[in-house]
Amino acid sequence: MRIERIDVFQQDLPFSGGVYRLSGGREYRSFDATFVRITTDDGVEGWGESTPFGSNYVAAHAGGVRAGIAEMAPLLLGADPRHVDRVNERMDDLLTGHNHAKTAIDVACWDAFGRATGLPVCDLLGGPTPGRLPVISSVHVGDPDDMRARVEEHRQRGYRGHSVKVGASEAEGGPKLDAERVAASLADAQPGEYFLVDANGGMSVEHALRFLRLLPPNLDFVLEAPCATWRETVSLRRRTDIPIVLDELGDTDASLISAIADDAADGIGLKIAKNGGLTAGRRHRDLCRAAGLTMSVQDTVGSELSFAAVVHLGQTVPPGLLRCVLDVRGMVSSATGHMEVTIEDGGVRAPRSPGLGVDVDLDQMGEPVLTFA
Ligand SMILES: [Mg+2]
Repeated sequence: MRIERIDVFQQDLPFSGGVYRLSGGREYRSFDATFVRITTDDGVEGWGESTPFGSNYVAAHAGGVRAGIAEMAPLLLGADPRHVDRVNERMDDLLTGHNHAKTAIDVACWDAFGRATGLPVCDLLGGPTPGRLPVISSVHVGDPDDMRARVEEHRQRGYRGHSVKVGASEAEGGPKLDAERVAASLADAQPGEYFLVDANGGMSVEHALRFLRLLPPNLDFVLEAPCATWRETVSLRRRTDIPIVLDELGDTDASLISAIADDAADGIGLKIAKNGGLTAGRRHRDLCRAAGLTMSVQDTVGSELSFAAVVHLGQTVPPGLLRCVLDVRGMVSSATGHMEVTIEDGGVRAPRSPGLGVDVDLDQMGEPVLTFA
């Protein structure tokens, strides 16, 4: 079984809520998505997606995804997509870094592997855990009362976890506004709910310490990605008893090994495209498992294909270590296919059909922007 053809598609996925606001004054209205379809010599197809969260989130941008794929694709023709570790080694030989570019190809190989064997991807990743995966909302920064209302709206839709964004500049209201946002977002917390307070690396240590001191007592949450750098994160960790979760800083084997060796965090946000796909994600899952770190399996943003990769990996994380998965589909107003998965009783289960379990809408995809054959 050999990769005979690689097609690349592009779409803009509008943010479903108008404007997504993140720390540091970053705003997003639409996400430039790249899709890869591999076709093998025996006619099996596999699809993957990589949708960066804008160009100023992590070191990734949409043009770079497609340029990276173009750099690697001609030399991946002939590879066996079932040999995912070998495909990834070849990609690493051809291009250093660029996790986002590698993700779409890697996930397409897993999808083809599943379709070729008749097995869902989660079976190939180690087998599905029983039960549903708790789904987390993404509550972007805003007025405290508005954030409280958006948490409630997601609660009514079955979400059991909430990622509450913070990181106000001094001009906007600084640590005091962030404390008000968190207090409001957690004001109606229900038993069994889980709250991540996520600064996306937007706080200085000083800001974070002032913010934590201004919070009312006894709020139950973990602090995700408080600071932009490793030094600041470790400094903050030594000076607070709030659990700290890495996200943007935890994207490679080396950073996860450092996190464990330095005891820098209690958990990670394991994002498929940020971490380099399902092959790297599987390895990062196992490193976290060995170290006892909790995981939120997510992607930066995306459509059905991204969410399918999230759900299949999430379904293989031991339930005691899985905090939540992110339904990236809810963040965009455009669908690229159909998958048999619904949020029920606060959770989702990975589809049982072969591969990722997504029927891609070819009309919606349109014509390829790049083809390698
Ligand atoms: Mg995060």
